[in-house]
Amino acid sequence: MICLKIFIIFISALSLIIISNNIPIENTSPFKPKIDYDNSLTSLACSIEKYFGINPLHKTLPYIDNLFLEKKPENVILLLIDGLGSKIMEKILDKNSFLIKNMKKEIYSVFPPTTATCLNSIKTGLNPSEHGWLGWSTYVPVINKIINLYVNSEKGKREIDQDFVEIKDKYYYNKKTITELITEKDEYLAFELNCYPHNVDRNIDTVFQRILETLKIKGKKYIFSYYPEPDDILHIKTHKSQEAINEIKKINSKVEKYSKLILEHENTMLIITSDHGHFIPNKKRITTHKINQYLRDKRVFIENRSPAFLVKQGNEQDFAREFKKDFGKDFYLLSKKEILDYKLYGEYSEGNKHELFENSFGDFMAISKDSRNKALLGETDRNMGSYHGGYSDDEIYIPLIVVSN
Ligand SMILES: [Zn+2]
Repeated sequence: MICLKIFIIFISALSLIIISNNIPIENTSPFKPKIDYDNSLTSLACSIEKYFGINPLHKTLPYIDNLFLEKKPENVILLLIDGLGSKIMEKILDKNSFLIKNMKKEIYSVFPPTTATCLNSIKTGLNPSEHGWLGWSTYVPVINKIINLYVNSEKGKREIDQDFVEIKDKYYYNKKTITELITEKDEYLAFELNCYPHNVDRNIDTVFQRILETLKIKGKKYIFSYYPEPDDILHIKTHKSQEAINEIKKINSKVEKYSKLILEHENTMLIITSDHGHFIPNKKRITTHKINQYLRDKRVFIENRSPAFLVKQGNEQDFAREFKKDFGKDFYLLSKKEILDYKLYGEYSEGNKHELFENSFGDFMAISKDSRNKALLGETDRNMGSYHGGYSDDEIYIPLIVVSN
């Protein structure tokens, strides 16, 4: 009798496996955009624009607007710490640490949560659909190449791409930054102190000393600065490493030390945020999968956690079918139309859509499901420990830390 029961259970389980293998894997729940651009890096930038007399193109962040109204700071400093998402901060720092105690709220990054895209939003007050920096690597239709925008080279190649160099100012450096707009208006002062990716000072003491020097200049002013860690350490070693823990604790104690010195200057507000968090995924290389045969370029781009694909004409349906079979559990597959309909890259204000926007993110893009931990690597992608650019809470939430006198 017991043997018969076990046999029936075994047969039932086997039939379930057979049935489930025959069911096409579809996205089980529909994709929902999570990033609220009215509560993001863009809106933080817009609050700063408004306070310094520049007309913002998007909604401002009410929390910061109210603080500006209440405190009327003469000096506004915005320090962006690369890779220090709020979830990582909470994992590593204790609740009495300076950064956690002074975190007023969490805000959203922009999509995709990656340095190139986020830095351009915080520096211009524009959504990605307007500044056109759609990921670390973007398809540039006017030269028909996938380009790593900040390094001026084709994805997977080391040398500078001359075709891109010829068009980059026209398409990717044609938007004015907030510091440029304030300086142009000539009513207040504005400074950008540690410019990414060139001339980046990696010494946190020097980063703060330059802020302190600039504070000596008289007049109402905006100071933007940037610190490149813990991003590099997280990519290589992940947040579980002692090196990353030490770096984040060091950042916390340096910010605590230097904010005391900064606040010795009257009417000063120091705002600290980040561009994105980090996520440790399992990696799958698409070159061993069937979808590879349908691609007109074997490289994926935008981000490994939100990979975009250039698909051979006429093979779109085959690609989508095979992708969902192999990766549908871990990723939503969105067509170009869906990416636009969901406003994944944010709204664009009238007349401000980036000239190449709609033709720069490929034919399909896969968006990582929140709790699923995969990254897709194409032909030229190197293996890293930790990634960002996906849609998990770990990647999209960033801290809003404010200290003022
Ligand atoms: Zn970054």
